[in-house]
Amino acid sequence: MRIDPFAVPLVEPFDTARGRMTERRGFLVTVERDGEVGVGEATPLPGWTETYDDCAAALERAARAHAASAECETAALAACEGAPAARHAVSLAYADATARARGLPLYRSLGAGDPLCDVETDGSVETVPVNATVGDADAEATADRVGDAVADGFETVKLKVGARSLDADLARLDATREMVPDATLRVDANGAWDVATAERARSALPAIEYVEQPLAAPSLDAHAALRGRTAVALDESVAAAGLDAVLETEAADVVVLKPMALGGVEKAVEAGRRARAAGVEPVVTTTFDAVYARTAAVHVAAALAPLPACGLATGDALAADLAPDPAPVSGGGVAVPQGKGNGVPAPLGE
Ligand SMILES: [Mg+2]
Repeated sequence: MRIDPFAVPLVEPFDTARGRMTERRGFLVTVERDGEVGVGEATPLPGWTETYDDCAAALERAARAHAASAECETAALAACEGAPAARHAVSLAYADATARARGLPLYRSLGAGDPLCDVETDGSVETVPVNATVGDADAEATADRVGDAVADGFETVKLKVGARSLDADLARLDATREMVPDATLRVDANGAWDVATAERARSALPAIEYVEQPLAAPSLDAHAALRGRTAVALDESVAAAGLDAVLETEAADVVVLKPMALGGVEKAVEAGRRARAAGVEPVVTTTFDAVYARTAAVHVAAALAPLPACGLATGDALAADLAPDPAPVSGGGVAVPQGKGNGVPAPLGE
């Protein structure tokens, strides 16, 4: 098992609770199985995953366990317990090598456990629909940016809300709706509202697909009470409380699944199936990952297809990348790689 650190610059720095981020740092993990090389990526995002240093330590443990055990994959995965980004890298490296050895694209290899997904015959998924995301701006600029995204072919646009008053956000939505009468709109408050604001929003929001994370992450019962007139999607709550708690409390109509935060592509596919079995629709997104993890998230979405528009159009946030992108975004969709494995060429070296 080989571990290579990497850093890729962001086009624009973004501010997190833990400070300003100007690049995405992580690790590539390379393994060999049945003569095939597989590559995995760990791009930790504290708040969603372990820290960079904890990820590095977990991968070192995984490499030692891998070298010491005949059951090397099981031992390496066990060494990543509590470090989801590290586990994501190890499991993706193995899933990629396995899919290559089977001669299947990663999504069909991942989907093979699902009786509904017949890998022998049909089951191919050409594209996955993706949403554009528009950040905070005044009403006019918001409407213009959404208009540009729809002109680029996006049918679904997510607006970030909660940075200004609810009345100001409602004005942004009114201006946007006027600009794009037919587009599907969703909003993401990232937990910024209190219950009173969320209640007001619930009756004042125009027709939208859903409101994502209106309240702080721990508020599962309060989210359950908000459901009804407007569908509720949960993102931060899934990371904080776990998918099971979200499903048991019937807190969401939609759950946002991030393979990096869930600890692996196979865990994300399994989470998506579990959500759907409970009547909750999954949506797959990245954690602003580099090309190996971003493409793997496309395969997760394809393994769960058909899905609502997913948050996979995030490659533009990076000013450079680790390899050419095999899953480009165009016309509101991302093309699913149909070659063997993840579809990203192995990094140069050795
Ligand atoms: Mg979100």
